[in-house]
Amino acid sequence: ESISVQEYAKLLGIEATDVIKKLIGLGVMATLNNEIDAETAQILGAEYGVETKIKEPEKPEELEDIEDKPEELIERPPVVTVMGHVDHGKTSLLDAIREENVTATEAGGITQHIGAYQAQINGRKITFLDTPGHEAFTAMRARGAQATDIAILVVAADDGVMPQTVEAINHAKAAGVPVIVAINKIDKPDSNPDRVKQELTEHGLVSEDWGGETICVPVSAIRKEGLDTLLEMVLLVAEMQEIKANPDRPARGIVIEAELDKGRGPVATMLVLKGTLKVGQPLVAGSIFGKVRAMMDYKGRRIKSAGPSVPVEVLGLSDVPNAGDVFQVMDEKKARAVAGEIQTVKREEELRRSGKISLDELFNSMQAGEIKELNIVIKGDVQGSVEALGQSLERLSTDEVKVNIIHSGVGGISETDVMLATASNGIIIGFNVRPDNNARKAAEKEEIDIHVYRVIYEALDDVKAAMTGLLDPEF
Ligand code: GDP
Repeated sequence: ESISVQEYAKLLGIEATDVIKKLIGLGVMATLNNEIDAETAQILGAEYGVETKIKEPEKPEELEDIEDKPEELIERPPVVTVMGHVDHGKTSLLDAIREENVTATEAGGITQHIGAYQAQINGRKITFLDTPGHEAFTAMRARGAQATDIAILVVAADDGVMPQTVEAINHAKAAGVPVIVAINKIDKPDSNPDRVKQELTEHGLVSEDWGGETICVPVSAIRKEGLDTLLEMVLLVAEMQEIKANPDRPARGIVIEAELDKGRGPVATMLVLKGTLKVGQPLVAGSIFGKVRAMMDYKGRRIKSAGPSVPVEVLGLSDVPNAGDVFQVMDEKKARAVAGEIQTVKREEELRRSGKISLDELFNSMQAGEIKELNIVIKGDVQGSVEALGQSLERLSTDEVKVNIIHSGVGGISETDVMLATASNGIIIGFNVRPDNNARKAAEKEEIDIHVYRVIYEALDDVKAAMTGLLDPEF
């Protein structure tokens, strides 16, 4: 919490100039409207002989974690996410590993798609998240949950490094997750692994055989070649990462996916990160109370307990949590109370959030002085028009409102774009492109305004009209 110099002076019933003088005396150059942070306010308070209480930021009660002692930690299987450009073989690779290293080890086992599975190599396990791509990965991170220990970057040897390859590299980098490169489709006659390695160096990934530190494994998902080596490399990298957890404590982990099943009620796939989850235990997942009624592993077998890195399908939740929500086992009374509390805080936040900007409300918000910047994400079908639209929109900036293009790119409107707009309280403009299904759903949930145009000047007209309060109300 902060307070302006003016407000501070008023609060204490002193002259603002006096406060400014004091601040300058403290080495802080301030004007009337400058904000005073909590720390400075405390020092000022001491100067004036008043006690300064700092309001705790109103934060939803986090699902408190328990500290584990180092000696309680034991190795757990690494959790892996597969990323890469579209059509480079992410799904094929996940399927191939599942077929080779899951069902093969147990005859007759039918793997269930629950959003994650475990593969085995040399008697050791690796947990794979079954939703490939950096979008899901980043969506979870945006919720504060990071489950991935290692990323496998799939690059097709016949296609090389492509835009989403670069995005994936950047997302993994931002998360500090080590990357192993699977150079896929080496069965293709026009495959060129060296070119892939060359292109990767331009993005900071230098292959080991070229003197760098990035492990690159040539594979063919279709022919199931190189898979064992790839998995061995995952274990090797895992060893250097010290991937450990205490299995002997109340379980904590994240929700991988969740849905409402007609027959079974709310069903969630959860990944245990610490502790052991047992049937019968009460828990909070996000803001949802639950009591584990039954658990199934990725082979559809009923199990009674699940330790670190084990993905399980859980029945017995009172509602459907969100993918990426953290869950924590606690005693029932506390779990109910915490879930209720988090829900209340969330509702309040939602109310506050209705300040989300839409073009319809732009003018009113401008008039009320609520917004001073219009943040826009632009997606379009060709680079030229995306740039032209972006520049023209930015030129619409006035003294009241500055138009910011916070992200622009070629391609359809994705959920990742919606998340970005959500984080920046912005709107999305599509030029000759549409939102995909997930983006549409996310936009609805997050109340993000998406507008699609086929003609540049119509987009400009709308934004201009909105800024001057002349937007057609039925828009
Ligand atoms: P994703 O979009 O990254 O999940 O890619 P997919 O797994 O859907 O694969 C895209 C296409 O590439 C499909 O037609 C696959 O059959 C093909 N493909 C995937 N792996 C290989 C491979 O190792 N060799 C060849 N020749 N084709 C592959």
